[in-house]
Amino acid sequence: MPYARARHHDGHTRLRRRNRLRNKTKDLDQIDKDLKEGSDQLLNQEVDLDKPGFAQHYCLHCAKYYINQRALDDHFKTKVHKRRMKALENDPYTHEEAEKAAGHGSFDKTPAKRKMETQPSKDEYSCGKRVKVDYFTQEELNSKKRKSLNSSKVTEEQEMHE
Ligand SMILES: [Zn+2]
Repeated sequence: MPYARARHHDGHTRLRRRNRLRNKTKDLDQIDKDLKEGSDQLLNQEVDLDKPGFAQHYCLHCAKYYINQRALDDHFKTKVHKRRMKALENDPYTHEEAEKAAGHGSFDKTPAKRKMETQPSKDEYSCGKRVKVDYFTQEELNSKKRKSLNSSKVTEEQEMHE
């Protein structure tokens, strides 16, 4: 019965595709936009019974819902979240612009670095703290670089003594 088999297979893939789409997380460009324009709305979502935690505990940076405050707080301490914060330090748009500029003869390909802070808690939010996306000034970047150079020097010295 080739037809019956084919129909069964077809239904199976459709189900899989639907799951795939449902599980698709936002890409960094969209999250970047959320941070700049949609943070108030996303941090104050209406109760949605279909979402984990009724959409009341959302990580803006990772675009994920958590079941309660505790789970969200725990998530903030995970590698996944910290890695995401690092990734968001690079502005996707200035990076693109920088590359475009490079194609037109500019040699500066470094993307603008941003200060990334984990979103405010509900308490902080009600005290007026908001998500902001600030750039590091060149001076701050230089002192950051100096600091990391110094710390790598220390470990080198320590290794030499061992
Ligand atoms: Zn996160």
